[in-house]
Amino acid sequence: MGQGSGTSLPQRVIQASIRRVNSREVGKPSTSVLILQWKVSPLIRRCRQLLFVDLAIARTLTSPRRALPRGKQMPNGGGDNCWACGFNRANSGQWHGYHDLAELAYCTIRDVNISNPLWTYCANMHTRQAVPEGPILASGIYENGYVRIPWHGDHEPLKGNVQGECAICGRVITKGIQIDMDTEGTRSFCCNSHYLSWWKAHRRT
Ligand code: SF4
Ligand SMILES: [Zn+2]
Repeated sequence: MGQGSGTSLPQRVIQASIRRVNSREVGKPSTSVLILQWKVSPLIRRCRQLLFVDLAIARTLTSPRRALPRGKQMPNGGGDNCWACGFNRANSGQWHGYHDLAELAYCTIRDVNISNPLWTYCANMHTRQAVPEGPILASGIYENGYVRIPWHGDHEPLKGNVQGECAICGRVITKGIQIDMDTEGTRSFCCNSHYLSWWKAHRRT
């Protein structure tokens, strides 16, 4: 008697299905499916590429840095600087005016030229009150991060190559901070904290 002669037709169908599953026949795509996948997959890949490119462009266009006009990206020092301030004459009263940097920045409420509007700050940018509040701030020496240090009155602290001795610790320095003291010459400092110590004792605002 032949194999399976004692089983009914439905049982034989089920057993054949089980054998196909066990031999993974079911998971193998047919030749026509393979040809279709081969033809379609480059199209799918292209669509995916276009989608990713579109998403990247959309992200770039909607990011805050690109929201500004070309060439006017925000510096690392933050967006609350004189460049964005409505009291900066070069912005003609417009808040976040981002004037052409070739124009001289001038603070109308403190009557002072701002030589570095991208890295100069004060509280009035936030309060938008025309009465000066606190000192103007510059970006200090980079010490494990950006810090802001006060101007000495209307004198901006200079940073970089500074020769002399620190006015606080006496260390001989070639780089640091220097401040103009008008008729009293200049003072040099080795670091932000020693400049601040001196500033607190001599503050003009
Ligand atoms: S110093 Fe202050 S008030 Fe003056 S332009 Fe700069 S941010 Fe504005
Ligand atoms: Zn020092």
